[in-house]
Amino acid sequence: MIRAVLFDFDGTLTRPDSLDFGALRRALGCPPSAMILEYIEALPGQEERTKAHGILSAFELAAARASVPNPGAEEAVVLLRDRGIGRGILTRNTLASIRESLKNFRAVSEADFAVIHTRESPGRPKPHPDGVIEAARRLGVKTAELLVVGDFIFDIAAGKAAGAPTVLVTNGRAGTGSGAWAHAKVEAAVPDYTIESLSELVPLLEL
Ligand SMILES: [Mg+2]
Repeated sequence: MIRAVLFDFDGTLTRPDSLDFGALRRALGCPPSAMILEYIEALPGQEERTKAHGILSAFELAAARASVPNPGAEEAVVLLRDRGIGRGILTRNTLASIRESLKNFRAVSEADFAVIHTRESPGRPKPHPDGVIEAARRLGVKTAELLVVGDFIFDIAAGKAAGAPTVLVTNGRAGTGSGAWAHAKVEAAVPDYTIESLSELVPLLEL
């Protein structure tokens, strides 16, 4: 029984590709094989890390301003709200970016989510399960009752590692979700369910 849903934000609640990861990697000098946050944390000097965080923040803020709700996203959140199913967000982005993006939503606001767990929150970011476990605790549900929904392998890996059921949103891209799974240095994670858009989410819960 699903009692709450934990959404990834970028590319899941918003349309994918508002952030140009290729351009961001070039600006940071981050190779395609590295994970961006982890790459920045591993830079040798504090000055370099601060500069890299500045570049990342500028890209993220511009992307947040340009982002729009994904098809079916607002309707899904409203339906879950009406049915008393808990809602949270788990993102590798910052709270400032999420708030900026949510300004572009019409029917949904920050108040619709009991938990917004960002990279500034305690615990390791996805693909680690920490954020899923913490979100379940704050939502008052078991991880087995928390449906983790995302468009990337990190979302699925984090959910599975926490013992939560998972849904991959492909955004119409041949079953692999957003971005190249090949560069992700995590075990291949197979989602429990795969949907093209969030308009399929609430019917899925009724199965
Ligand atoms: Mg995403």
